[in-house]
Amino acid sequence: YRSYGIERSNSMGVNLANDDQLRALAEQVNAATKQGWRATPLVPGAKAGGPDIAVTNPADRRETVGQWQAADSATVEAALKNAVAAFDGWNATPAASRAAILEHAANLLEQRMPQYIALCTKEAGKTIPDGVAEVREAVDFLRYYGAQARSMFKPEALPGPTGESNTLQLSGRGVFVCISPWNFPLAIFIGQVSAALAAGNTVIAKPAEQTNLIGYYAIKLLHEAGVPEAAVQFLPGDGATVGAALTRDPRVAGVAFTGSTDTARAINRALAARDAAIGVLIAETGGQNALIADSSSLPEQVVKDAISSAFTSAGQRCSAARVLFVQDDIADKVTHMLAGAMAELKVGNPGLLSTDVGPVIDEDALKMLREHAERMDREATKIAEVQLDDATAHGSFFAPRAYAIKSIDVLHREVFGPVLHVVRWKADQLDNVIDAINGTGYGLTLGIHSRIDETVEQIASRIKVGNCYVNRNQIGAVVGVQPFGGQNLSGTGPKAGGPHYLPRFTTEKTITINT
Ligand code: GLU
Repeated sequence: YRSYGIERSNSMGVNLANDDQLRALAEQVNAATKQGWRATPLVPGAKAGGPDIAVTNPADRRETVGQWQAADSATVEAALKNAVAAFDGWNATPAASRAAILEHAANLLEQRMPQYIALCTKEAGKTIPDGVAEVREAVDFLRYYGAQARSMFKPEALPGPTGESNTLQLSGRGVFVCISPWNFPLAIFIGQVSAALAAGNTVIAKPAEQTNLIGYYAIKLLHEAGVPEAAVQFLPGDGATVGAALTRDPRVAGVAFTGSTDTARAINRALAARDAAIGVLIAETGGQNALIADSSSLPEQVVKDAISSAFTSAGQRCSAARVLFVQDDIADKVTHMLAGAMAELKVGNPGLLSTDVGPVIDEDALKMLREHAERMDREATKIAEVQLDDATAHGSFFAPRAYAIKSIDVLHREVFGPVLHVVRWKADQLDNVIDAINGTGYGLTLGIHSRIDETVEQIASRIKVGNCYVNRNQIGAVVGVQPFGGQNLSGTGPKAGGPHYLPRFTTEKTITINT
């Protein structure tokens, strides 16, 4: 790992083991909850957006937490014109000044952590610990890409013959469109936008339709920190109209996207079909992530890490463990303990500190999960299902479950929610297990539980994934510590929070002078 001169430290966050700190934070989060949150397009010179659309709380659909307005096609056009016009000015702003603005935004965000956690809880159903992690990660991205920009954009003198000076200079590419997901509505959103801005691009940010409020208040904060209003614009709307209009427009130099593999393919086709410069696509997509536990592993630890990896954030992480491959010698013990531990999980209001698992994002997600559970109930063996209580009656709640299945191949696609599947394997089948995981075509995260170094090496060297975690959980990659992102169907790379991400947002110029 080369640090490429990135000197910064990660946000301190909150000590979740300290009850007093956590309780004080929960009180601040509740006090910061407002009913009047409102998101409108942030496009200088454009008129207001369409009619108000209500945002309801995933944990209780009777509660309206705010309103948002979609951008119409005239607003999309205005945003593109503004972004093109603002590019030269922002790109010519010294990288150190751009970095200082992003670092200022990081400080503001850190100070306002409770407000942003409140938004994450009410709009996205995030638990308070998830909210803390979300804000920390956003702060870390701002500081990481800011720090990297400071060193990366200094013109570099290259060695050459006497009588000649050669320099290599990086610059922004132009207008970048950032399309971000609802599962990390602040962290991934800010991560994409801050990288694009740090590199000198102007940005049009389109969040997932489910999390427009968080996106709006994140962009407001960037404006307050000093990013010019035309250099980062907020353009809420649905993917089929706003997203598609942006990605087929020849004025767009590149797209940063996190979401489904199918949508990434559609964006790639749209960029390629334009009669324009070939656009860059940086896509982080889905996964079909496994956890392999051999007979030398500690069942208690396997269960603890499987539960954390499969059910944290209601399983709504690309990194989440979907299939636990457990060696048959310890399989009975592990499944027994898994069922016991799952019975202790508390599903409910994400604003309460006692809650382990909050709601899923919306009714469509719930429907998809219910359909999957119905199929599993017919075709697989249920190991455990968490009981839901009355408090969940009005929200989009799905009870975490675990099923024993014969093979990973019965899962045709990513199941984005709190469902863990368990496959047993025998000592001589390790290579088949690795082949089956590679055979899904996805390659995001893998967990390994083993106390045999040779086994760990054998798996880690043959598996085709972006992030491999040994004897721990496989979620919660930390900026600059575990650069995050997959291969194959899981994404184009480069990794978010790693040194190679920012360069992808830039273009290079070599200047040779005969002196
Ligand atoms: N970076 C997150 C993690 O490590 C996952 C990101 C995602 O779900 O897209 O858990």
